[in-house]
Amino acid sequence: MRKSVILSLLLALIIPFMAMARDEMKYTPQGTHFELLTLGNAKAVKLRLYDAGIAGKVIKTVNLKSAKQADGYLLWSADVKGDLKGKFYTFSVKYGGKWLAETPGVWAKAVGVNGRRGAIVDMRDTDPGDWERDRRPHIAPNDLVIYEMHHRDFSIDASSGLEHKGKFLALTEPPAIEHLLQLGVNAVHILPSFDYASVDESHLELNKYNWGYDPLNYNVPEGGYSTDPANPNARIREFKEMVQALHRVGIKVVLDVVYNHTFNIEGSNFQLTMPDEFFRKNADGTYSNGSGCGNETASEREVMRQYMIESVKYWVDEYHIDGFRFDLMGVHDIETMNAIRQALPKDIFIYGEGWSAGSCAYPNEKLGMKAHMKQMPGIAAFSDDTKPAFLAGLPGYEESIKMGIVGAISHPQVDYSKVNYSKEPWCLQPTQMISYVSCHDDMCLVDRLKASIPGITTDELIRLDLLAQTAVLTSQGVPFILSGEEMLRTKQGVHNSYESPDEINHLDWNGIERHPQVMAYYQGLIAMRHRHPAFHMGLADLVRQHLSFLPTQKCVVAFHIDGRGIKRESWNDIYVVLNANKKAVTIDVPQGPYAVVCRSGVCSERGLGSVQGGKVTVPAQSALIFHN
Ligand code: CA
Repeated sequence: MRKSVILSLLLALIIPFMAMARDEMKYTPQGTHFELLTLGNAKAVKLRLYDAGIAGKVIKTVNLKSAKQADGYLLWSADVKGDLKGKFYTFSVKYGGKWLAETPGVWAKAVGVNGRRGAIVDMRDTDPGDWERDRRPHIAPNDLVIYEMHHRDFSIDASSGLEHKGKFLALTEPPAIEHLLQLGVNAVHILPSFDYASVDESHLELNKYNWGYDPLNYNVPEGGYSTDPANPNARIREFKEMVQALHRVGIKVVLDVVYNHTFNIEGSNFQLTMPDEFFRKNADGTYSNGSGCGNETASEREVMRQYMIESVKYWVDEYHIDGFRFDLMGVHDIETMNAIRQALPKDIFIYGEGWSAGSCAYPNEKLGMKAHMKQMPGIAAFSDDTKPAFLAGLPGYEESIKMGIVGAISHPQVDYSKVNYSKEPWCLQPTQMISYVSCHDDMCLVDRLKASIPGITTDELIRLDLLAQTAVLTSQGVPFILSGEEMLRTKQGVHNSYESPDEINHLDWNGIERHPQVMAYYQGLIAMRHRHPAFHMGLADLVRQHLSFLPTQKCVVAFHIDGRGIKRESWNDIYVVLNANKKAVTIDVPQGPYAVVCRSGVCSERGLGSVQGGKVTVPAQSALIFHN
């Protein structure tokens, strides 16, 4: 903590002229201070106070006073006497002769229903009991197993047995916690949970679904996931209760953040405060659309860069968030991503999508693309090279799988010229690579397998599913699983399910009983990974030193890890063989005997027998893991 304080002080010295109005509303029982930062040519700023979060009459209007800042911006402020707790506010800014629409500002920390007005709250009222004792679990990046989930998918179906369906509070319920612990994941990555625009919080009975990649208020939890969106305190308190419940059992909480674009331009709080200051434009004056969502923010500008830094720091300080997943990180510039890394404590895990959805109005070589990860140490990116074509039994993907196994670092036995997309190693350290075969975006694993192998039987589907996750969970990268894969989830073939109904997106918890082998295998594999540091060494040099590949055969990737000298590793020689062929194959290993811990879709450290070494047979479409 101390280090981060010093770092913040240093940063404050480096950027002396950057005014940040992180507290646009500061409440005390005696009075409330309001301030808003605008462009230098703003003519006036009005504050309006309301009794309600939506509709109803203005109860007071206040004209703010301006003070010119060294960076040219104007800081407008006003103090309103009396206890305003429970009231709501908006700002309106006048540029030229025109008043812009009302906005809660860019730094609202509490809002009314649908996020249109700021709410005056005492943040200490939102802390659950014992919140001051809540601590982020200490888990090194190489020890993480991440579980990506959407609040509604996870709990909405009756089969979940959870009470708070589609709510933050579902993750506080014992059956939910129990499930995560049984599976063995130690980080929950929650899809956008800041206040987003696409679901009408005043009509939740319509059961409208959205992933939530349409930001409205970046620093407030989404109202639709609270039990009472009209009560500004509810969403904040319930979000904290969720974090607290997960932290109590040693599970980290990762927030999916979407600073690369806003829901729209005209209605965005950025635009209603500082027109065009936060967005990139093309040479012809039109807005650039690198996000594919109609606009893209300009992280390279000091105002946006500082906004992002302060915003993630706020989530860490106020909500005890453990990590961030940056949506379309390739829209942000490298310098900003590195500044964010520097500004956050070391144990905060940062990763992102190393791509954009369209071309950006900024030089590509300066953007946070996957190919530039070596310039962003301490930040990870999703590996899109390891998608499961290998599983369909198609030859030619072996080197891509090998790249995934080593965590996209340079390794003498990986021929990058044959890797799917990346023609060179893109990570300095294996923890810079997120290893996965499915995420919320695109098809889930079951649907992808069905699409790649027409007429696939359930047995084959399960075999390949387990084989795919074995590649994920024996990778030196950071493993990442989409929620519900352990239940053999299907989205009925829908790949872009961002607004599909619950019938498509929900988890069917009966899948656990229907396919107990799948859950058991995932559990066994994750438990084995946790117990054996050989599978997550964390450092590129160690991986190069201890991990070597056996000769590649068609649709077979086999490797050996020498466990000797790896701290806390109890196994000596570990062999992992991934066989995607429809027939058994044979590999050559030194004479054993070896204990088998994974074979034919069963993964357990006990009772799977032994192999003698020499020629070892690996059953079709499955993984074999053994050790001595
Ligand atoms: Ca919302």
